[in-house]
Amino acid sequence: MNGIDYDGQEFENARKEMDKLVQDSLKGREIKPNVLFAKLSDLSKGMSGKLVNWSRVNSLWPLQFGLACCAMELMDFASARVDAERKGFLMLRPTPRQADVMVIAGWVTKSMVPEIKRMYEQMAKPRYVIAYGECATCGGPWWESYNIIKGIDQVLPVDVFVAGCPPKPENLFGAMIKLQKKLGGDIEGR
Ligand code: SF4
Repeated sequence: MNGIDYDGQEFENARKEMDKLVQDSLKGREIKPNVLFAKLSDLSKGMSGKLVNWSRVNSLWPLQFGLACCAMELMDFASARVDAERKGFLMLRPTPRQADVMVIAGWVTKSMVPEIKRMYEQMAKPRYVIAYGECATCGGPWWESYNIIKGIDQVLPVDVFVAGCPPKPENLFGAMIKLQKKLGGDIEGR
């Protein structure tokens, strides 16, 4: 056979020598993290969080859903007289999948509880509940009824309660502003 014959130990020594050369050549080339890029990334994360919250606060989508006489006032809330859209309370949505605010307007019978819970589960997260009127808040005139629950807060987490029998649409307007405040939106003077 032509050429030089190497035994296993010589190959091993050569490999070690090559590894050492490679390590030595890389020593002076340590790549430091890009500080500017890291800071920009933190900044964009912080800004996007604020931007998302600003968008959320200014685009609350109530669900078009009524249970009893308070629902008449809910309809008035969507009318031109109240003009709820000027504050970012957008049009009532016909499906829970497009809504994030559930306004419980009217008394809640025990048979309706599973249906209301199902609609709540179908709503976009994060989702909010407004108990609108005496019946939704505590059972109202039906406090001692056998088939009406004593407030929607017994089955769903309520963010804002609205007193009145019935409350005015303007009270719902006020409740939405309270909800905006709760979400961290600076809504004064707008
Ligand atoms: S609070 Fe009064 S107006 Fe509203 S649903 Fe109850 S009884 Fe009707």
